[in-house]
Amino acid sequence: MTSAVVVGSGPNGLAAAIRLAQEGIEVTVLEAADRPGGGTRTSELTLPGLLHDDCAAFHPTGVVSPFLSTLGLDRYGLRWAWPEIDLVHPLDDGRAGVLSREMDLTLASLGADARSWQRLFGPLARGLDDLLEDVLRPVAHRPRHPLLLARFGLRALLPATTIARRWDDEPAKALFLGAAAHAFGRLDTPLSGSVGLMLTAAGHRAGWPVAVGGSQAIAAAMTALLAGLGGTVKTGVRVTGLDQLRDLDGREPDFVLLDVAPDAVVRIAGERLPGRVRRAFERYRFGPAAYKVDFAIEGDVPWTNADARRAGTLHLGGSAAEVVAAEAATVRGALAERPFVLVGQQYLADPSRSAGSANPLWAYAHVPHGYTGDATEHVVRQIERFAPGFRDRVLATHVRGPVELASYNANYVGGDISAGANTARQIALRPRTTLHPYATGIPGVFLCSSATPPGGGVHGMGGFNAAEAALRSR
Ligand SMILES: Cc1cc2nc3c(=O)[nH]c(=O)nc-3n(C[C@H](O)[C@H](O)[C@H](O)COP(=O)(O)OP(=O)(O)OC[C@H]3O[C@@H](n4cnc5c(N)ncnc54)[C@H](O)[C@@H]3O)c2cc1C
Repeated sequence: MTSAVVVGSGPNGLAAAIRLAQEGIEVTVLEAADRPGGGTRTSELTLPGLLHDDCAAFHPTGVVSPFLSTLGLDRYGLRWAWPEIDLVHPLDDGRAGVLSREMDLTLASLGADARSWQRLFGPLARGLDDLLEDVLRPVAHRPRHPLLLARFGLRALLPATTIARRWDDEPAKALFLGAAAHAFGRLDTPLSGSVGLMLTAAGHRAGWPVAVGGSQAIAAAMTALLAGLGGTVKTGVRVTGLDQLRDLDGREPDFVLLDVAPDAVVRIAGERLPGRVRRAFERYRFGPAAYKVDFAIEGDVPWTNADARRAGTLHLGGSAAEVVAAEAATVRGALAERPFVLVGQQYLADPSRSAGSANPLWAYAHVPHGYTGDATEHVVRQIERFAPGFRDRVLATHVRGPVELASYNANYVGGDISAGANTARQIALRPRTTLHPYATGIPGVFLCSSATPPGGGVHGMGGFNAAEAALRSR
């Protein structure tokens, strides 16, 4: 029987394992942590009974993923829940840009820019399912929808700041640039608009839902599906070399799929990695970091903006110019005085995460790579700015800076939650310049983490694509 070992049980590792197991391959997943799931774990971080997503919280890419959506994960307990409003980007003057799966709600928040927003995102959202069949694959493939892809590609090549120039007023500009800031990069460089276009279009197409019970429900459903296909997951096993993967008879598995960052591939594969691949992986760059703060709060956040009180996600970055400057500073290695902060009110869509009148609030700031200082007060101040009185509602706080994030999950090198900087080069060609981004140059050994196309997010497409590459290599 053909055998495979997957190293790492993030959504990409589990997707790769499932795809291989679907073909009758005997799959074992080895996970360093004591629970599977990688970026899709949930814990009681602050007070008993309050469920906090340790990492990923909102799933615009999960709900539209061309692979995850074929798996029937609802049969294994995964249920999506949507907040009333998907995303709000509040401004200091009380207005806000609103992203909703109901386009009209968004348009109502954008004043004179509404028509232009609709012209851009109406067709993108309608064509999204077809577009994703191409966009979530390696750059070098034969497109299934070439015209759609070409139209998207021409826009995606542009800097986010250039795309934002089509709008005159702050709500639209800030809303778009806040979505683009998910790439953790400069917003005035080529391709920096691509992430914003995708996340906004996905928001209009299917919203930004949460998983009921926490993102751990995604990992639990994928693990249960894998078990049904005969696969196993072993936790508490950190893989440090390929030799560790031999079976009791000393045989290597037919396939190894690595849900790890490129620097770890260099360590794990050692001398077996061809020199050109090793050099490329050593050149691979990591980007700015997340500084995660989870709060237990009494009641709700007293947002000034009424829509913000009903929103799942909030982007706290102020004006478009401020978001652009804060992201540029972070890339330069400086902590912005007012960093871009994301806040999650998952409990509004999924009350099962709360305990009595105490609610879990999820937040993280963009900080420089490897930042070792304390940015907790920066996060609190950004929330206070748009919700005066917030501070008084905090019951408990749990902090994970870049250093703690990297030790929580080795893929978050220096706190970079995308497993690699989203520079123009690495958006187009990650993890190296090649037509075979999942190949490592070692026969049977493939890379499948978010360091491969299509990059960060919970969608499992890196894992699916890597498994397909492995199957083709048989
Ligand atoms: C604070 C934060 C917020 C986020 N918010 C969102 C969000 O709202 N929506 C979204 O879609 N995405 C979000 N993300 C990103 C998302 O979590 C990742 O893009 C996604 O989990 C990547 O999946 P992956 O399978 O490539 O890797 P990971 O999920 O990182 O999994 C890798 C796994 O491999 C294991 N591993 C690594 N090295 C070894 C080894 N040597 N041996 C054994 N095991 C190993 C790790 O322990 C880990 O479990 C967020 C991430 C963070 C940290």
